[in-house]
Amino acid sequence: MTRLVLILGDQLTEGAAALRAAGPDDVILMAEVADEAAYVPHHPKKIAFLFAAMRKFAAALREAGRRVDYVALDDPHNTGSIPGEILRAADRHGATEVLATEPGEWQLIGLLNDLPLTVRLLPDDRFLCSQSEFARWAEGRKELRMEWFYREMRRKTGLLMDEGAPAGGRWNYDADNRKPPPGEADPAAPMHFTPDEVVDEVLNLVEARFADNFGTLRPFWFATDRGQARRALAHFVATALPRFGDYQDAMLRGQPFLWHSVLSLYMNAGLLGPMEVCRAVEDAWRAGDVPLNAAEGYIRQILGWREYMRGIYFIEGPDYTSRNVLGHGRALPPMYWGAETDMRCIAETVAQTRDEAYAHHIQRLMITGNFALIAGIDPADVHQWYLAVYADAYEWVEAPNVIGMSQYADGGIVGSKPYVSSGNYIARMSNYCSGCAYDVKTKTGQGACPFNLLYWHFLDRHRERFQGNPRMANMYRTWDRMDEERRATVLAEAETFLNRMAQGARV
Ligand SMILES: Cc1cc2nc3c(=O)[nH]c(=O)nc-3n(C[C@H](O)[C@H](O)[C@H](O)COP(=O)(O)OP(=O)(O)OC[C@H]3O[C@@H](n4cnc5c(N)ncnc54)[C@H](O)[C@@H]3O)c2cc1C
Ligand code: SF4
Repeated sequence: MTRLVLILGDQLTEGAAALRAAGPDDVILMAEVADEAAYVPHHPKKIAFLFAAMRKFAAALREAGRRVDYVALDDPHNTGSIPGEILRAADRHGATEVLATEPGEWQLIGLLNDLPLTVRLLPDDRFLCSQSEFARWAEGRKELRMEWFYREMRRKTGLLMDEGAPAGGRWNYDADNRKPPPGEADPAAPMHFTPDEVVDEVLNLVEARFADNFGTLRPFWFATDRGQARRALAHFVATALPRFGDYQDAMLRGQPFLWHSVLSLYMNAGLLGPMEVCRAVEDAWRAGDVPLNAAEGYIRQILGWREYMRGIYFIEGPDYTSRNVLGHGRALPPMYWGAETDMRCIAETVAQTRDEAYAHHIQRLMITGNFALIAGIDPADVHQWYLAVYADAYEWVEAPNVIGMSQYADGGIVGSKPYVSSGNYIARMSNYCSGCAYDVKTKTGQGACPFNLLYWHFLDRHRERFQGNPRMANMYRTWDRMDEERRATVLAEAETFLNRMAQGARV
């Protein structure tokens, strides 16, 4: 009996568990479906990247002699959903059994399990820590701190370890990695790829079908197959990695990538494996080509944060995305979708998100994330936005970053304190404030930076929850030292700002 082997758009590797388990008679099913593309209004670059990479992967499988059934988006019989396409393909091939690598999203796991067919979901073992291993690590711990998880992963994998001890004598070089932006920056851009015939065809399709989605489709330069993604990795290691550590947190106008790798979209889709990326970085350090703070800082993001976030998503369960412990309920303001704003930092971050389907970690956390949190935006809306606009966004990694790390909506599972800041942090780590209509040094009154007002408003309205947090004691001490009149002014001006924003005024 023929079996169907489902390969999803983010499972584009020979190493996908279902593909490894497939026999020569099994039919590999791949489908471009409108439901997935329309579940949130994904950025056109993200849709084009996935469809092009899927088409090329299907062609490579066929060349290798596999039986592939590929359903294109414009197939007139396309039902628009993964379950619909599985049922149609089961009919076509007389299949009653489906083999799949477990999806990285609770909703799709549920849909597959509900199919009226025999469905075998194999654990997705492309990660460095399995779900059961993470659950064992988490069991019985009062706090799930990433740093402890990371150290175990270093020991387990031997990455950056010398005779059982961390290379260089320290586990973590983060303290060296917070330099403000350099005056003159001339970072190497991530490797660009000229669209080939397959990519061109997909670009035309996406242009026709998703013209209304937020985001600029062209120029399109992402890698769309494994060979290209490997070249992008080698390019990053040779050109940007040496300064990655130093300027990891810096933000500069007109420089969307700085010394970041822009490899998450390739890793998340399966074009690169996390271990090969970490090994390439470790090798460069061992060869003396990059400093240890860069290599360790980079490897920690993948071996630590990436694996940790996935672990959290799966142990926390399907209700994670609806958590909202702070009770935030304001609507996401239109400036997140490109409406004009006087806040230069938001305008810059949103504009590059629109153009590149990319923002680096600190922009996501300390600009758009920070503002949404201190302004009290509904975390479900924030989650949908991040899922839509970034080329690397899939729920298993996006939700713990947004619901957990950025919005504190999970009550402190991911972060021991909320990531909130006034304008001072943004002024220190970027050059956004020069040329902003607001003045970052002004705390109240005409031209006061909204981050300065909303930061205190946030701390004041959540005092009960956070004042006992030792990591926040200094913040509350500073607030309490201000005279009462000044505190009342800050709160009143913050309220005025929030009300104007809610009424749709340009802020
Ligand atoms: C609010 C918010 C939302 C985010 N949403 C996503 C998302 O949808 N998809 C996603 O892959 N990352 C997400 N991140 C994490 C991080 O911002 C991106 O992985 C990173 O910006 C990708 O760009 P890069 O490849 O240039 O990363 P680099 O700065 O070069 O970092 C190297 C790699 O480390 C990994 N990494 C770094 N930080 C994290 C992290 N916090 N969680 C998981 N992996 C990490 C990524 O694979 C990344 O490619 C989010 C972070 C925040 C604060
Ligand atoms: S002054 Fe405030 S709003 Fe303007 S760029 Fe700086 S932090 Fe952002």
